[in-house]
Amino acid sequence: MKLARVAKKGNRSFYVEFMMMTLVPLIICSIIMMIVCSESVRMAMTSEAEDNLRNVALAVLKAYDVKYPGEYKVTVEDDAIKLYKGDSVITGEYELIDGIEDGSRLEISIFSYDTRLITTLRDEEGNRMIMTVASGRIVDDVFYGQQPMFYDNVAIGTVDYYGYYAPIMSADNTECVGMIGVAKPITDLTESITRSVLKNLVIMFGTIAVTSFFIMIFANKLVIVVKHMLDFMKQLSENRLDAKLDASVAQREDELGEMGRNMSNLQISLRRLIERDVLTGLFNRRSAEKRIDEIEDSGVKYCVAIGDIDHFKNFNDTFGHECGDVVLREVAHLLNDSMNRREGFVARWGGEEFLIVYVNIDIHEAYDNLMLIRQALHDKDVEYNGQIHKVTMTFGAAQKRDGIAINHLIREADDKLYDGKQGGRDRVIV
Ligand code: GH3
Ligand code: MG
Ligand code: MG
Repeated sequence: MKLARVAKKGNRSFYVEFMMMTLVPLIICSIIMMIVCSESVRMAMTSEAEDNLRNVALAVLKAYDVKYPGEYKVTVEDDAIKLYKGDSVITGEYELIDGIEDGSRLEISIFSYDTRLITTLRDEEGNRMIMTVASGRIVDDVFYGQQPMFYDNVAIGTVDYYGYYAPIMSADNTECVGMIGVAKPITDLTESITRSVLKNLVIMFGTIAVTSFFIMIFANKLVIVVKHMLDFMKQLSENRLDAKLDASVAQREDELGEMGRNMSNLQISLRRLIERDVLTGLFNRRSAEKRIDEIEDSGVKYCVAIGDIDHFKNFNDTFGHECGDVVLREVAHLLNDSMNRREGFVARWGGEEFLIVYVNIDIHEAYDNLMLIRQALHDKDVEYNGQIHKVTMTFGAAQKRDGIAINHLIREADDKLYDGKQGGRDRVIV
């Protein structure tokens, strides 16, 4: 009971362990790849956004140069700040930047120092956010630093943007007269990053799901093999030595198959140890009784014979126990050969007594066969220590009849054997 529980638990944990061993590294790898991949996507998209904003900023400046040739100049007239480009006042001229902003969600601003004089940005009431100022950080970097800069987070009003700011230089390139800023809401960028990452996530989970499915099939196959082996071992441990290991296990060409084949070989050795007599290799009395019960249950006709070596004690007493063993082995060999191509079996019934069971023949045929054995023994020379010995046997046999129990039948054969001994040995009595 305890063993079964352990086996069941072991079986389950093997499956779980196998799944863990394969799936956990796969999931960890996928997560790492996902993080690396997402970061790469974010960097690539941010860099693409920076390029895009820079190109727009340069295009806007170029467009102003083409449309309004000349220098940028700021004047204050009647308390109103005016931005000139060449001879033209460009504050209030929105045709150019509104055209670019249209539909692209890009916000374009032209600054004088830190102040927006022209912009596409509008506040909540829809008014252009002119005269608002850029943050000190941008003024320091771009206006004073005279360097174009990309910012991934610029707050303008209540909205967060990513933006590209570039200085506008005087015609002789000696001083900075203003800045151009192109910005786009951060949500636009995060949305496309999220879309791309989500797509990758779906692919990743899809891959994990498909891989898990195949791993599960593979693990299941292995678990089934292990389960077959476990069932087989369990049957052996319960003394069911006729258990059969599932053919699929022994046919495998891997280590599990080899393990299965070794287990089957172990079963053969165990069966041999338990069912066979060590000296002669014949079935022992215990397995003979089992076999004869099976024959009896099958309902076929059969005969039993008991053969006993005549004056066997003399071999032991005169030539030694070892000589007796040689005689026993030789006789066993001869008896076993006599059963060749016949239905039935031979067993070592006792010390120098053998049981022969003939299946599907009647007592006359059994008699004929026993007489042949007797003759073969006469013809046989048993050699021990350079000496030739002659061996004879006496047999008693009986045929199965309705209503006669098997032990009575064996006793009957034994009685006939006794009669044979009394009658002078070296004979067959039926
Ligand atoms: P009988 O013709 O009346 O059968 O005389 P027997 O000498 O053959 O019979 P008995 O019963 O007097 O002797 C049988 C002997 O067989 C006694 C026992 O020591 C010996 N024996 C039993 N098993 C073995 C064995 O495995 N090896 C050897 N060498 N001797 C064995
Ligand atoms: Mg005897
Ligand atoms: Mg004897």
